[in-house]
Amino acid sequence: MKEEDAEHGTYASYQQCLKRPEGTCEPCRKAGAEYMRQWRKDRPLAYGRERAKTNARGRAWARLAHMQPTLFQALYQEELERGEAS
Ligand SMILES: [Zn+2]
Repeated sequence: MKEEDAEHGTYASYQQCLKRPEGTCEPCRKAGAEYMRQWRKDRPLAYGRERAKTNARGRAWARLAHMQPTLFQALYQEELERGEAS
């Protein structure tokens, strides 16, 4: 798809551009980044909550792995092998 075939440089076109095998074009990449910048600016509380949840999840996983290292290692290995099989 040539960049002049369709509209580019908007958040909507960015969503479409993401699906291209060659990846996003420069105008769409910029539009996507600007959208996210604006999103974080408009919703600092929601963004902060999401980040806090992600951080808490990471810490909980680390603690679980520390408490149950053998079980965690076995599950991790199982998932790695499953990932390779599919
Ligand atoms: Zn594009």
